[in-house]
Order: sequence, then structure tokens, then C-alpha cells
Amino acid sequence: EAKQVGGRGWRAYDPASALRRMRSRMLEAEMPAALAAGQFFLRYQPQVSLETRAMLGVEALARWEHPSIGAVSPGEFIPIAEANGFITELGRFMLHEACHTALGWPEHLTVAVNVSPVQFQRGTILNDVREALAASGLPPQRLHLEITETLFLDRSDTLFKTLESLRGLGISIALDDFGTGYSSLGYLTCLPLDKLKIDQSFVRDMADEAGAGSIVRTIIALAHSLKLQVIAEGVETEEQCRLLITLGCDCAQGYHFGKPMDAEDISTLSSPDLTSLGRHTLIGQAKA
Ligand code: C2E
Ligand code: MG
Ligand code: MG
Ligand code: MG
Repeated sequence: EAKQVGGRGWRAYDPASALRRMRSRMLEAEMPAALAAGQFFLRYQPQVSLETRAMLGVEALARWEHPSIGAVSPGEFIPIAEANGFITELGRFMLHEACHTALGWPEHLTVAVNVSPVQFQRGTILNDVREALAASGLPPQRLHLEITETLFLDRSDTLFKTLESLRGLGISIALDDFGTGYSSLGYLTCLPLDKLKIDQSFVRDMADEAGAGSIVRTIIALAHSLKLQVIAEGVETEEQCRLLITLGCDCAQGYHFGKPMDAEDISTLSSPDLTSLGRHTLIGQAKA
């Protein structure tokens, strides 16, 4: 961040942040052509039942392999795409790819796609979901959407109706990164949701920090009292896994069960003789 100088609020020239802005503008300008050129693709990360350790489905995550600068992280390109609206196109691509790919997997597997608040604000999400389902032929029950708490800064009727309509199609809605953002517990009770995802920051500190542990315990209790399923993200160790089971958490996702991987690896992992993930072997560690 640029330094604040004196009390007048103007900033000193900071070469590092000037470079970052330049890189941002370059990435922004290149995005549409990059999508057309096939530089964007999807990785899939297993979501497992903590009771059986069987894979229930996957989360689809966007990747950008830039021909000259290499992998650009979604942490960098998603905010840029949100700021200029390109996320609606990228989001449409994600939905189509995810639905199409999931159709090639065993039919008990679900696929969760992240959706940006911008896709709701622009009013494109409902149609895009309908089209992706129709074009792929994926049963709506196999599609999950992950939304974030920032979406609820907008408390409009439209938002509520859109969520209702999406669920009316038969898909499930998960609230991602729960606990990190804006949240009004009262509002939560009247939202059409199916699942809460506990943010990985709480899972990470769960074992060694009393505070994080009680947050996880509280979120699980809250979810269950609202009849929502709860999934912990960022599970990296067997110890975290055991603790989550003790606390009654339903599902988990994290490097302990598998890193984001390609569609073929998901097919392999969902073969009938591989029903238990994370217990003895670490799987899918090749590609992140
Ligand atoms: P998210 O939706 O909360 O996704 C989980 C992130 O945690 C992913 O990072 C995943 O690779 C990482 N992760 C999973 N397991 C572990 C673990 O055990 N340990 C650690 N340290 N990390 C783990 P990724 O792929 O870099 O994505 C970052 C964020 O970018 C996502 O967070 C999501 O908010 C956003 N994003 C990714 N793809 C899309 C997309 O298609 N659309 C939108 N709107 N956002 C996306
Ligand atoms: Mg997510
Ligand atoms: Mg998350
Ligand atoms: Mg996250």
C-alpha cells in the first residue's frame, strides 16, 4: 500500500504499487482475448462426507495460465474481473464448463460453482444457470452455487427472489467463507440457503487457538439450528478432521482430501474401490 504522507491525504509515489497497477491494467486488457484463446480453465477440489469420507462432489475453481507470465491466481484476476464486469462472462464460462464436465462423472457427484455478487447485480445469473443446465443436460440437483456474504449488502427484493428462483430450479446454494464478511444473523434466518461453508481461517487455527475452535463450534450449531448443512474448508490435517467430526461437522474440503485437480483425476478418485479419502494416502497432489 502507498504511504500516507502528512495529514493531507496525498500519497508518495510508490514504485511497487505503480507496478501492481500497471500489471492489473494489463491483465484487465488481456482477459477477454485470454478467455477466447482458452487460457482459462477449471480445477476441481473434492468435497467429502466426514461420516463416510466418500467424495460427495467437487468445487470448481477458475485458473488462468498466461502464456508469458504463467499462472495468475484467482485472488488476483477475480477482483479485476469483478471491477470491470468481465466476471459475468467468465462466470458464464465457469457454469458451462462445470456442468458439462460434471455430466461425465458418476451421477452421485455434485459440482459447486462460485458466483460473484456482480453476477447478481447485473441480473444475468438466473438465465446463465438455466442455459448451462439446458445446454449440458445436467440434472439441477447436481449443481451447487457458492455465494458470499458481501452479496447481502444489497438487501433488495430482487436478490431474495433471484435466490428463490435459483433454488426453484432445483439447485443448492451454499454461503461461502462464512464468518469472514458482513453478516447479520437475523437476516441469515430468512435467506433461502442450503449450506454454510466455514472459512478456512477458522479451520486453520482451530486446534491451537481457543477462539477459532469456539467459532467453528458456534457456526456448526448455528447451521444445524437453521437446518443447513455445514462444510469446513481448508482442512489440511487428520487432527483437524477428527476435531470437526467431534463437533458434528457434516462435510469437509481441503488438501487433506485432495488439492484442486483436473476432471480426469476426479473420475479416477470416484471409482468404486476408492471410497475413502484422506485416511491413508494423500491423493491428487500433483496439480494445484
Ligand atoms: P474459495 O471459493 O473460498 O475457494 C477455496 C480456496 O481455498 C481455493 O483457492 C482453494 O484452492 C483453497 N484451498 C482449498 N483447500 C485448501 C487447504 O487445505 N489449504 C489452503 N491453504 N487452501 C486451500 P483458489 O483456487 O486460489 O481460489 C481463491 C478464491 O478465488 C476462491 O475462494 C473464490 O472466492 C475465488 N474464485 C475462484 N474461482 C472462482 C470463480 O470461478 N468465480 C468466482 N466468482 N470466484 C472464484
Ligand atoms: Mg468457494
Ligand atoms: Mg471458501
Ligand atoms: Mg475462501
